[in-house]
Amino acid sequence: MVTQEHESLLSETERSQGRVALRNNVAAASALADAVRSTLGPKGLDKMLVSGNSPAIVTNDGVTVLQSAQVEHPTAIMLIAQSSAQDRVAGDGTTTTVILTAELLQNALELIEMGVHPTLVEKGYRLASKESMSQLDEIAREAGKEDSLRAVMTSLSGKSDEGIRAHLSKLSVAAAQSLATDIDGRIEADASLIKKINDGGRPSIETELVSGLVIAKEPLHSEMKMYPDGGKILILDGGISRRKPDIDVNLKVTDIGMTHALNAQEIADISKRVDAIAATGCNLLCVRDGIDDDARGLLLAAGITAYRRIEKPELELLARTTGAVIVHEPSLAKPSDLGNFSSLTSSKWAGVSHMQLIGSEKGGQTLVVRGTSKTRMDEVSRGFDDAASVACGLVKDPRILPGGGATQMALARHLRQFAPTVPGREQLAIEAFSAALESIPRILAENAGLSPLDEVLKLNAAQAENGSWIGLNIHTGKAESMYDAGVIEPLVVSRNGIAGAMEAAVSVLRIDDVLWANQDPSIPDWEKSDGTPGET
Ligand code: ADP
Ligand code: MG
Repeated sequence: MVTQEHESLLSETERSQGRVALRNNVAAASALADAVRSTLGPKGLDKMLVSGNSPAIVTNDGVTVLQSAQVEHPTAIMLIAQSSAQDRVAGDGTTTTVILTAELLQNALELIEMGVHPTLVEKGYRLASKESMSQLDEIAREAGKEDSLRAVMTSLSGKSDEGIRAHLSKLSVAAAQSLATDIDGRIEADASLIKKINDGGRPSIETELVSGLVIAKEPLHSEMKMYPDGGKILILDGGISRRKPDIDVNLKVTDIGMTHALNAQEIADISKRVDAIAATGCNLLCVRDGIDDDARGLLLAAGITAYRRIEKPELELLARTTGAVIVHEPSLAKPSDLGNFSSLTSSKWAGVSHMQLIGSEKGGQTLVVRGTSKTRMDEVSRGFDDAASVACGLVKDPRILPGGGATQMALARHLRQFAPTVPGREQLAIEAFSAALESIPRILAENAGLSPLDEVLKLNAAQAENGSWIGLNIHTGKAESMYDAGVIEPLVVSRNGIAGAMEAAVSVLRIDDVLWANQDPSIPDWEKSDGTPGET
């Protein structure tokens, strides 16, 4: 009897510790969501981020706010990591994901306080997420020609001014289309293949996309020629300079003849390497490290145009756009390592000579970022990155969904119908999931200065009548077709965001679960085996 009492006391303590932990975790998630909720949507407020010694930046981008926040709470850190992952994978929807995770957690906590075991909440959430995924496929439409552009525009809404937004959207869609490559039947587009250079002193609306890779380098010798009609490139991750003797000998140079002999040997060594390079049949040589003066003349004589000290990422871009294999040692270079380019020219940007190479493969484009200050150019560059990742995502999967809270509302409505078909307490969790989704249109309305309650009711009624594409246009304050209003988003953004928020919420619930491990999930708090009322 005593032992039993002790045991129950012990599990009681563990359980309440578990609950305290959960309450703290949920509070941390909510605090984080509160920090960004006012930025949601095109009418979201800007936040000014001030940190120690770097200049303050003004943004209404949730993920930027979070990344610069100095938080220590493990739950908060996890949520920030998750929103960064959303940014990486989908290029958008970060604020939405954080809000959704926090709402899912708050609703889960309420259920758990009511006596629903976290395992059942998890089960219900997983069911709801799975059901949402298939429902998203139902709501989605294939993007028409102009739709990609409109979706990219939507993803930039609230950022920068309208003119720049439209301009960057156009550039990013064009870039994504030219990057599209068929890889084993899958269309891929990799935004990281776009090189960027700054060309200050001109308005940012003059930011342009140019064909080829533009790299701030001049050939090794002014007489080395350009190849406007193309040729073959060898890429060397290394250099062509005098080698140090392999063994660490302390040479005592006693006479002039010996110096000459050593020198001659080194030159012979360099010449052998240049011969090996020339034997591959390349016209262009791009090298990561240095090239000795002795090699310069030899390369010129061999008709090879050479560039040295090219950074590793640029070497890799060159390799990808020409199909070259990067070699590490000239003597091992083979003709099959060469890549092809269709033109090599010299161009001037920001008053500096650049090499401009158009490769034979996809990719190899350069965004020439313009702006009157470094800060402005950085902002344009970030905007382009966001736009390009959304545009590339649409090349991979061109399906689109309505914005303006329509998608979340439609899912919430669907889940409310779905919940009763699931037996058991999981049903409650599915309803909680549905309520969490509704927070998105609610907050959008709130941030636009509209009544959250009325707008959600209005939206619900409008969707019942006219379907899932009806959303809240916060510019007009009307519940209307998001397709007609041009407020559209890629499917991947919602898909990834909802699944990600669910996983994040569940992993926070699980932290608590460890402490609950010895509790039978089928027995709620108020039905304890000894018949005494449980904690409430
Ligand atoms: P996130 O970081 O989640 O992308 P944003 O601050 O970019 O957050 O806001 C995105 C939300 O704003 C999406 O739900 C999107 O549908 C919505 N949105 C964009 N334009 C409009 C509009 N004109 N009317 C209503 N909602 C809009
Ligand atoms: Mg956004």
